[in-house]
Amino acid sequence: MGLDFILDELKLLREQALMREYRTIESAQGSYIQIEGKSYLSFCSNNYLGLADHPRIKQAAIAAINQYGWGTGASRLVAGNMILHQELEKKIAEFKGTEAALLFPTGYMANVGAICALVGREDIVIGDKLNHASIIDGCRQSGATFRVYPHNDVSQLESLLQRSSKHRRRLVVTDSVFSMDGDTAPLPEIVEITQKYDAILMVDDAHAMGVFGQHGKGMIEDYGLEGKIDIIMGSLSKAIGSIGGFIAGNKDLIDFFKNKARSFIYTTALPPAACAASLAGLTLIQEDTTLIDKLWDNIRYLRSQLSKFISNISGESPIIPIIIGSSEDALNVSTRLYENGILIPAIRPPTVPLGTSRLRISLMATHSKEDINRLIDTLKNIGVLTHGNAKHVKEGYAQTDVG
Ligand SMILES: *Cc1c(COP(=O)(O)O)cnc(C)c1O
Repeated sequence: MGLDFILDELKLLREQALMREYRTIESAQGSYIQIEGKSYLSFCSNNYLGLADHPRIKQAAIAAINQYGWGTGASRLVAGNMILHQELEKKIAEFKGTEAALLFPTGYMANVGAICALVGREDIVIGDKLNHASIIDGCRQSGATFRVYPHNDVSQLESLLQRSSKHRRRLVVTDSVFSMDGDTAPLPEIVEITQKYDAILMVDDAHAMGVFGQHGKGMIEDYGLEGKIDIIMGSLSKAIGSIGGFIAGNKDLIDFFKNKARSFIYTTALPPAACAASLAGLTLIQEDTTLIDKLWDNIRYLRSQLSKFISNISGESPIIPIIIGSSEDALNVSTRLYENGILIPAIRPPTVPLGTSRLRISLMATHSKEDINRLIDTLKNIGVLTHGNAKHVKEGYAQTDVG
C-alpha cells in the first residue's frame, strides 16, 4: 500500500505510450543542440528568435550580475523589488501600449495569479477550449464557474455570455496564438462581444511577442487593438529568450494585482539579471526587426513546402502541427526523427485531445533553408509526408474540434 499506486500509474502511462521523459541538452539553446555528445537539429523550441544564446543578452545578464549580484532574497513586496524590475515593467508597458505592467516569475504564475485574483465563487470565467494549461489551471483554482467554448467559436462565446448575466463578474480569457495548434484567435470579434456584454477580456499573448505585429509587439499590435484589451498576459521566456511572465494593463489593475495576486505576493522576485536579459531582448527587437523578418521567411518557406503534402496546415505562426493520431504512432515518428538527428518530441494527451497526438514543429530565425530542407526530406524519408497521407492527417486534425 502507501505509494504502490505510483508504480501502477507509471505502468499505465507506459502502456498507453503517454510516459513523458526529457532529453538532456549539453550545449546552449539554439537551432543546433548537443545531446549525449551528438549534434541535433532542433525544431521544438519557443526560442523563436534565437535570443536565448544571443551575445547581447548574455552580456546584459553578466553585467547585471556584476552590478546587482544574482539573487533577490525576498518577495517584491518585502525587500526584493529592485531597479531592474521597475525598468523592465516600464518597458513592457511601453511595448504593450498600456499604463503599467507587473512581472511574475513565470507566465504560468501570471495566468494563475491574475485569474484567481479577478474571479471567485460568485463569478464566471469563459475560455477557449484550446487555451493553455496555465489558463485552465487558473480558471479551475479560482473557484469561479468555468465554461469553455469550442475553439475560436465566437457565436458560442456569445451565447455563453448571454446566459451568464446572474454572475457578479464575467471574465473571458483566450490565447492569442494557440500553443499546440499555431493558429490565432479572432481577437477583434472577441473584443466586440466582450464589450457588448460588459465582460472583462484577458488575452494571453505569450507566443505572439517578438513574432507578430509590425514591431514585434504581439498580436494586439498586429490587429491594431491597443487600448482595447483589459488585461494582457505575456511571457518573456519565448521569443524574448529570457524568463518571466507579466500582466499589462491600466495602473489601477496593476495595483490590484500587486495586492491580490498570490503568485506575485508569495514568491521571491526574479533575479535582476533575468530582468536585464529581458530588457536587452526587448531593446534588440525594438531597434531592429531583422530576426523577426528572418523568422517569417522561414515560416512562409516551411508552410509552403508542407502544403504540397498537407492540405490544411493549421494557423500562420512559427508553430506548425503535423497531426499523427495515436500517441504510439506520434512517439514512433518522433523516435525516427531523432535517429536522423532531428529533435521534435511527440505532443500527446493530456496536452492535446485524444487521437490528435502530433509533431509540433516550431521554427526559429536561426534555422537556414538547408535546415528546413533537411527536415522536409527526413519527414518524407520516414513516411510522414507522402501525397497519400494528406487525408489521414486531415481526419486527425478534424478531431481537435470535437473532443
Ligand atoms: C508558455 C506559455 C505560458 C507560460 O509561460 P511561462 O513563462 O513558460 O511559464 C502561458 N501561456 C501560453 C499560451 C504559453 O504558451
